[in-house]
Amino acid sequence: MKYLYLVLILAFSFNLSAQENLDLSYYLPQDISYNPEITTPQEVLGYIPGEWHVTHDLLVAYMRTLASESPRISIENRGTTFEGRPLLLMLITSEANQKNLETIRKNHVSLTEANSENLKTEEMPIVVYQGFSIHGNEPSGSNAALLAAYYLAAGQGEKIDKLLENTVILFDPSLNPDGLQRFAYWANTNKSKNLNPDPQDREFSEVWPGGRTNHYWFDMNRDWLPVQLPESRARITTFHKWQPNILTDHHEMGSNSSFFFQPGIPSRTHPLTPQMNQDLTKEIGTYHAKALDKIGSLYYTEEDYDDFYYGKGSTFPDINGSIGILFEQASSRGHVQETDNGLLTFPFTIRNQFTAALSTLEAAGSMRSKILDYQRSFYKNSRNTMGKDAYVFGSEKDKNKAYHLAEILKRQQVEIYEIKEDFELNGKNFKKGSGYIVPKNQRQHRVVEAMFEKRTSFTDSLFYDVSAWSFPLAFDLNFDNSVPLKYAGEKIDSLQKPSINTLIKSEYAYLMEWHDYYSPKALNLILEKGLRAQVGMKSFEADSKNYDYGTILIPVQNQKMNTTEIFNFLKEVSEKSNVSITGVNTGLTKGINLGSNYFRSLEPQKVAIIVGDGITPYDAGEIWHLFDQRYDMHITKLDTRDFGSTNLSKYTDIILPNSWGTALEKKDTEKIKDWVKDGGTLIGYKNAAKWFNTNEFMKLEFLENKVKAKDISFEERNDFRGAQGIGGAIFEATQDRSHPVNFGYSDNKIALFRDTTIFIKADSTSFNNPLKYTEKPLLSGYISKPNLDLLANTVPFKQVEMGKGNVILFTDNTNFRGFWYGTNKLLMNAIFFGDEM
Ligand SMILES: [Zn+2]
Repeated sequence: MKYLYLVLILAFSFNLSAQENLDLSYYLPQDISYNPEITTPQEVLGYIPGEWHVTHDLLVAYMRTLASESPRISIENRGTTFEGRPLLLMLITSEANQKNLETIRKNHVSLTEANSENLKTEEMPIVVYQGFSIHGNEPSGSNAALLAAYYLAAGQGEKIDKLLENTVILFDPSLNPDGLQRFAYWANTNKSKNLNPDPQDREFSEVWPGGRTNHYWFDMNRDWLPVQLPESRARITTFHKWQPNILTDHHEMGSNSSFFFQPGIPSRTHPLTPQMNQDLTKEIGTYHAKALDKIGSLYYTEEDYDDFYYGKGSTFPDINGSIGILFEQASSRGHVQETDNGLLTFPFTIRNQFTAALSTLEAAGSMRSKILDYQRSFYKNSRNTMGKDAYVFGSEKDKNKAYHLAEILKRQQVEIYEIKEDFELNGKNFKKGSGYIVPKNQRQHRVVEAMFEKRTSFTDSLFYDVSAWSFPLAFDLNFDNSVPLKYAGEKIDSLQKPSINTLIKSEYAYLMEWHDYYSPKALNLILEKGLRAQVGMKSFEADSKNYDYGTILIPVQNQKMNTTEIFNFLKEVSEKSNVSITGVNTGLTKGINLGSNYFRSLEPQKVAIIVGDGITPYDAGEIWHLFDQRYDMHITKLDTRDFGSTNLSKYTDIILPNSWGTALEKKDTEKIKDWVKDGGTLIGYKNAAKWFNTNEFMKLEFLENKVKAKDISFEERNDFRGAQGIGGAIFEATQDRSHPVNFGYSDNKIALFRDTTIFIKADSTSFNNPLKYTEKPLLSGYISKPNLDLLANTVPFKQVEMGKGNVILFTDNTNFRGFWYGTNKLLMNAIFFGDEM
């Protein structure tokens, strides 16, 4: 023990002095000279990289300085984050290439087109996208970017000249500016003068939600395919504009690890990714190995992570003829931390990332024409496997939802067409103006396939991320994967929002159907304005048009506004939310009449969400984003930390997102219960099921997976356990459309995203099961046989009354990653119609 103590002291003091004497030579290769005209990082930051965590504003200042000084660097501002930080891209290449950049780009991109056989790849530069710290609290990447940019701007000699001549580097110093800034503040404000490596120090445990995510607490390294966030939009635009050959994604992992580079676990590679991609990844890996050997750093490869979900930065390139590479450095979190591998200093983590950034460029240089040839052959092979027919998707009643899927496809450079004429196929109707045709015969057809396919058989039963993401299911759209091209109309070059009907003035009443994605946004505007509105509990027919369950009625008489004011206001609402509203002149409709008791009055909703310690930030953030960005609705974030002193009586609805452990104390539980009994609607997600049951909000019967390990060895135990989880797959449920939770849906089946093994037995009273998993619910993704058997006929939704209020439970995430547009309405129905359930 004494000996160990001494070793620690020695190691610690050695380390401290190492950091006190930290100098650029710790990082930079010393076999070349550096141009003294180029500003060093410390001249802008005021410290050597690694002494403090760089904030995003200083990172930007340094990058702009380099761009202004070096003819090798041009800089592009691609917009801003949610918090207004610039999304910079530096283009780094030789001075001669800089003058010729657009020609180089065009030539490069033409490698992906037909007739590219004559292009001489040995004479073409390779394009490398280097992206850093998409998880803001994995800071060694962005801090290493300071050094890599300096090296590329200031390095002199034949080796670097050749590198710049043969390479165009798309240098993205911070993939997550808001998260990086948040984390740097934490690490820096908790730094001690005498660096303290005790892992229990506050320095290593960030305050909720941490800096991993962006402003709305999204994991941006899952958004490369759905492209729902401004940061993703910027980098996906760059990606398609340049078609880089290699894309590197610099991350951090647990502090007790070493350094990881891809390939990941071979058996988990997505089957649509060519084997050659993985072979090249492996060959590139030999360059990382050599460089890390040279500085004495330990590393590993192929044992962890995978290339399955195409929404990750290191996998997305693989379906685009490129090679994505993941780096994971053990994290020091703060400035120095005790770990299983001794003291892990922040500078050490930066040096490994910097080294891997350079070995990437070295590999790119040496393997240049091989990798360019691979890109050309990827697209050539891809052209040979194109189908002759097309996909179609659409929704007659919800054009906005279909439009948003089309928008994603356009962001992924997919060619889409209008529907030429109405047609019916396999029992589904597709209408001109309410859907889109996607021909298979196009350059991006592999991306489309990856986005649209359903898959239920796999070579592995473990996944680093979700096992399914089929977009037509996530959007709950009518879809067919084989329609004749004759139904394709005009090609869509610039995608326009769907058109809405012009509002005609009425002296009597207005009707708004509930199917449109944005109808909750419109309803909220109407109720907030103080207008009376009602919801129809039954369907009816007016002016020969069918109005479905959940139609909103706005009577003209007995309102705070006069006829003209109502008309003008509703016109504004209709345009703002892009939803059609219709004026009617009689209450004598077929089915229920407009004065019927089946029209129930609605109240403005004051919604709160519980956030903070114990709550899953992603799940909470998705809801915050949904209300704030999509529906323009206020949602108050109530922190678990000061829940005790919160006045709940202001809110009509409280959302309890998924949580781990206990987010709320006993007295908080009683407080919520009293609030529900007074008339509140409490909406819980996923693990809230257990909490609801234990605290007697609702009685639930859970089904348990009791599968026992048989013939499973010690070595196989983790795989065995993992295979019994549900990492994220898509399942089918039936919908009782007459139940308010299902208002606005136009058929009786829905796809749900599930990543939990909470199975709830259905109620013996059928009308209490408005959503129920089918007999064979698996639509896409992996689930073990025992779990699938359990899931059949269980329910993902429960609702009970409690006093004057309501308790509602969803076991599945209706807002997953911002792209599950198809299930968002379930939550909005719980909000607006909870009282009618
Ligand atoms: Zn990460």
